[in-house]
Amino acid sequence: MEMRMAIPYAHQSISKDDIDAVLHVLQSDWLTQGPAIERFEHALAEYSGCQNAVVVCNATLGLHLACLALNLTPGDSLWTSPISFVASANCGLYCGARIDFVDIDPQTGNMSISALEEKLLSAEKSGTLPKIVVPVHFGGQSCEMARIWELSRQYHFEILEDASHAVGGSYQGKKVGSCAFSHMAVFSFHPVKIITTGEGGAILTNDADAAERLRRLRSHGITRDPKRMNRAPDGGWFYQQIELGYNARMTDLQAALGFSQLRRIDEFVARRHEIAQRYDRDLKSLPLIPYFQHPDAFSAYHLYSVRLDPARAKSTRRSLYDALHQAGIQVNVHYIPIHTQPFYQAMGFKNGDFPQAEAYYQEALSLPMYYGLQEGQQRSVISAIQNILRG
Ligand SMILES: *Cc1c(COP(=O)(O)O)cnc(C)c1O
Repeated sequence: MEMRMAIPYAHQSISKDDIDAVLHVLQSDWLTQGPAIERFEHALAEYSGCQNAVVVCNATLGLHLACLALNLTPGDSLWTSPISFVASANCGLYCGARIDFVDIDPQTGNMSISALEEKLLSAEKSGTLPKIVVPVHFGGQSCEMARIWELSRQYHFEILEDASHAVGGSYQGKKVGSCAFSHMAVFSFHPVKIITTGEGGAILTNDADAAERLRRLRSHGITRDPKRMNRAPDGGWFYQQIELGYNARMTDLQAALGFSQLRRIDEFVARRHEIAQRYDRDLKSLPLIPYFQHPDAFSAYHLYSVRLDPARAKSTRRSLYDALHQAGIQVNVHYIPIHTQPFYQAMGFKNGDFPQAEAYYQEALSLPMYYGLQEGQQRSVISAIQNILRG
């Protein structure tokens, strides 16, 4: 068999500057809790047009701490999209809350606004309104935040954006993470995402008190601020634990990498758009349905996902996936609907609960999409798909 470099669906891009930035920290006095953290936080806040950024060890912990800071407690409900990574829902469970889902809009893969409206209306009648709604910007395209914001005013819920896919994207001309239409937004810096810190995440918010609380929750619930203590400090060493927090800190090594990566984010996203345009153009005649891009949203294109149109395609999604993997093209499927996971089914969710999400899952495929994907590689991906689908 011919040896060939596999083409993954996602891959990080690490430059010489990135490596130097990490080496610099490694030779400094601070490997963690040092100056690189604040520097990265300031840069993220400035880039996103938000007042505060709090970096954490991963987006999963970021979502968890955000739920805690929004005072999600047992008895409360959190709603999210079933087409997401499990972390979007698990964050509510960590706080003892009930989870429910809102079905997707099949055109975008994002939470359906009309399904949300309907579900809110009936939850109001039954007294089961959510405390938090977590819109997930699927593939990097922002949800229709202005409409979700209006609903949040009407039904009094908090909006926590799972913006793991959407770092570098924008909505109505403002960066995702500006929190113009939300209380908090969470970014992921896992290597498959737009920029990376190895593992890492950030919570953005314009609420200064919430940011302070998030910083405390990130570090065991401990404060060194005398104003927060119940008595005068014993001395310079003194701290008090005033609530239960975690160790959710990011290291300075990671923050330096993130700061360096952030300098290239617009270049990363621009390349992702070029790749998306080529797929759009060259796959048009095939039985593949790309996502509708809403004019209000500028996607960060974490994913280029398509649906295989079962009415027009001769092959199944499974056979297309297998044939591409055999050719060294490591396409992927995003996502297995969360409510179909055994852990969630044990809570009472059933197949059939969210039909749009389940139909989507049968047809979905994510094609290679990353900054370093060369034009020739993309051409070979496109021609492999053409050969398979044209038989
Ligand atoms: C990647 C991802 C997460 C989790 O991010 P980590 O940084 O790996 O914890 C959460 N939600 C979504 C939608 C993701 O894609």
